[in-house]
Amino acid sequence: MRTRLTLWYVAVLSGVLVLYAASALFFLRLALRRELDRALDAQFEGVEDLLVQEPDGTVRMGGHGDENESGRFVEVWSSEGRLLYRGEGLREGELGEAPRPGLPGARTSHASVKLGDDPPRRVLSHRYHFHGRLVLVRIGASERWQRHAFRELLVGLFFGLPVALAIAAFGGHWLARRSLRPLDRMARHAERLTAENLGERLPVENPDDELGHLASVFNLSLARIERSFAELRRFTADASHELRTPLTAIRTVGEVALQEEQKPERYREAIGNMLVALDRLSRLVGSLLTLSRGEASPSLRRQEVRLLDLARESASLLGILAEERGQTIEVRGDGGVTAEVDGLILRQALINLVDNAIKYSPPGAAIVVEVRGDAGGAVVDVVDQGPGIPEEHRARVFERFYRVDAARSREEGGAGLGLSIALWAAQAHGGRIELVSQEGKGSTFRILLPTTGQKGAAESEER
Ligand code: ADP
Repeated sequence: MRTRLTLWYVAVLSGVLVLYAASALFFLRLALRRELDRALDAQFEGVEDLLVQEPDGTVRMGGHGDENESGRFVEVWSSEGRLLYRGEGLREGELGEAPRPGLPGARTSHASVKLGDDPPRRVLSHRYHFHGRLVLVRIGASERWQRHAFRELLVGLFFGLPVALAIAAFGGHWLARRSLRPLDRMARHAERLTAENLGERLPVENPDDELGHLASVFNLSLARIERSFAELRRFTADASHELRTPLTAIRTVGEVALQEEQKPERYREAIGNMLVALDRLSRLVGSLLTLSRGEASPSLRRQEVRLLDLARESASLLGILAEERGQTIEVRGDGGVTAEVDGLILRQALINLVDNAIKYSPPGAAIVVEVRGDAGGAVVDVVDQGPGIPEEHRARVFERFYRVDAARSREEGGAGLGLSIALWAAQAHGGRIELVSQEGKGSTFRILLPTTGQKGAAESEER
């Protein structure tokens, strides 16, 4: 990255410098020309005063000494193309061809004329009326000095440019290295991170610059990973603990049964106890599988489902359980409320909620499952007359393996996974679960789902 940055920097800088040098040379050339042209104009004014007409029609330079000197590079032509005067400093054709006969009207122009190997000359041509006739006066001046100045600058730039670029490359490289050093340090620090030291954080040198921002974002991700790791560890520990309890029970029952010769009924009883523990074990493993599969591939087989039908189905599956406890389950609500859901997964969530309502409500209690639609989506309430959930536990009951009263729920066979599965199911459908509970008066678990439509009339049914 350092090298790439430096190369880019040098490439862009050389482009800019070449452009800059080219325009500097261009403007210098213009300025030098303009200066020479101005000098020629001034010289013409002097020459014009000194020109004297001879009787034969030719022209000579009047004046003497220095004044005469100014006529050395002057030519005067008649409008017919006859040479009237040529200064002694000039050779034929040096300031240009003889003008064609019939000069157009008065005009001043400047031009560069190159003849053979001589350095080019700057020539001022001026047409004007002299003693009643049109003549062309040319004054030449060598461009040698201007060319020399131009070439000196060109050479200076030609050798100076690579030097400037080399210095820029060194500077650029140093700057890139300096700016990227914190990134280097971060990378080295990140290399040392493993599952064991996830608590460490990257140094944030300046939180306001881009690298500081990167480090802060990285640290936030680290914090999330650390939290997930901790959760995973706790989950594994809890799961092992939960699995060990029925396993120990099976082992103990088996060992006791085998200690001495027993009557067949005793063996039967032992096998029965083992089956109860096994049943608990397989339910636990089933829940764990549901959760881990759900997390690994949350792909849902969505279909438009009438939620009231789904609620009835879930309730009827648990009907016998409720009957055993003398409880009633009433399913009621709007039969037209539908949602695009995976019926199996949502049914599991409802079963878990109704199962809890049965487990935790006293015998003879009434349980209500109510389906309705509102502006935000579909709502399914599972209302019971159980003991309610104390305020301090409400936020945590959805955590895996969390139980309000561990001893009581374990007796009921719950591992504390039912609500986590229900919550996961709701969230996988883009919904959520709310808990309204009054201690001593019962709880309402409310599943809120995004719906696809609400049609039909309210129905009510009792089981
Ligand atoms: P469990 O398998 O123990 O029922 P859940 O995840 O379903 O696990 O529930 C977590 C805890 O929340 C339960 O142990 C119980 O203490 C409490 N709980 C759940 N549902 C109810 C309810 N309807 N009434 C009272 N307490 C409940």
